[in-house]
Amino acid sequence: MKKKIAISACLLGEACRYDGTDNRNDLLLEKLKGMELVPFCPEDHAFGTPRPTMDLVAKEEGVRAVSNESGNDLSDPVIAYAKDFFDAHGDIDLFIGKDRSPSCGVCSAKCYDEAKNLISAEATGLMATEAKRRGITAYDAETYLKETV
Ligand code: SF4
Repeated sequence: MKKKIAISACLLGEACRYDGTDNRNDLLLEKLKGMELVPFCPEDHAFGTPRPTMDLVAKEEGVRAVSNESGNDLSDPVIAYAKDFFDAHGDIDLFIGKDRSPSCGVCSAKCYDEAKNLISAEATGLMATEAKRRGITAYDAETYLKETV
């Protein structure tokens, strides 16, 4: 049976980044040939494209995604999308997220304290957190490429 891989849509060439560009990765696509790819983009779904950027901020209630424009907490729609996505696709074998994204990064997102001091560059984005919470093996795209040479 084909492996079913949940993957950040921007890595497949979808122009859903905050600035309307993509992160198409041909090496990765070559490597994933023959596998079933299920794309997702929580931020495009929740906020549209283009959109202001956001960062992870460690708050008392946990790590949250905060708009760099308004300072509003944008976490809830991203988390809701992630839950709906994994509920709808209960048979995902692997998660591949775009490195450094506050939604999709697996071990590579920046996280700040509330005074905007960088406290980690190895944080997990909100969508990737939901994948991990469900026990799905998760990789940053760059790590996946390195580790599966
Ligand atoms: S990194 Fe994730 S949220 Fe950002 S554009 Fe790609 S799929 Fe969308």
